[in-house]
Amino acid sequence: MFIKELTFECYKNTQYAAIERAINNYFDMLRYNGQILGREFPIAMLDATFTTRLVCPEEHSLDEQFNSPQVKHALAQLTEAGLLAPKIKTVAEDLNSLECAPGFTPSWQVLYTTFLDTCSPLRCGDTLQPIPLYRTPEAISNGDRKSVIKWQEEWINCDELQMNGSAVSSAILKEMGEVDSKLYYRGSNLAKRIQFVTKVPTYYYLYRVAGTSLEDEQQRKCPSCGEEWRLEAPLFDIFDFKCDACQLVSNLSWDFKK
Ligand SMILES: [Zn+2]
Repeated sequence: MFIKELTFECYKNTQYAAIERAINNYFDMLRYNGQILGREFPIAMLDATFTTRLVCPEEHSLDEQFNSPQVKHALAQLTEAGLLAPKIKTVAEDLNSLECAPGFTPSWQVLYTTFLDTCSPLRCGDTLQPIPLYRTPEAISNGDRKSVIKWQEEWINCDELQMNGSAVSSAILKEMGEVDSKLYYRGSNLAKRIQFVTKVPTYYYLYRVAGTSLEDEQQRKCPSCGEEWRLEAPLFDIFDFKCDACQLVSNLSWDFKK
């Protein structure tokens, strides 16, 4: 991941509120296309110049070639608000975050995230490294990748609630781990769409916790087709189960995982 500094300069007299709105909208559109990560973007103002720091998955994430129609529209709105096109410079490589997958056509990939993640939920099946969403040859829906970001936000919200032992944990665990949930329905449809545009088999991750015993958990079958799906050895210390027919992966219940 790379830290970028963006500087916006006014070219005419303008209203602060209009500038703030235009800049924040531009950041939102970049975020919904996977070009920047995170959710909070503090903006510093000095005279007629506005500066911010953003984290990008790759050094060239902000290249024009990756801009969605929504990002292009947001850039036009910056001009309308009285700002010049942002000056972009690389500050440093962020050592705190995961490096992106070097190639973008792995043998398989998986939609996987955790409450700690800010990176793309599309992960390389060979290395588990994140694959930037703007890299998909076509948009996922409505011109950009917002539907995937929104699915990830909901997943992270669920994960945070269940980690904290929320009163609604059992409903949340169903959303995260069962194939008749709304979160699964949305996520698995996104996985199908991503597979269609990337031509790479795209799996969906089902979270698993609790259960009655280690033995029962080891013998758990694919919740979709009911067939055997246990792997001989876990992948990335996370996935213990993988069904190629249903394109699902899951873990041995975290309660029994060593
Ligand atoms: Zn199956």
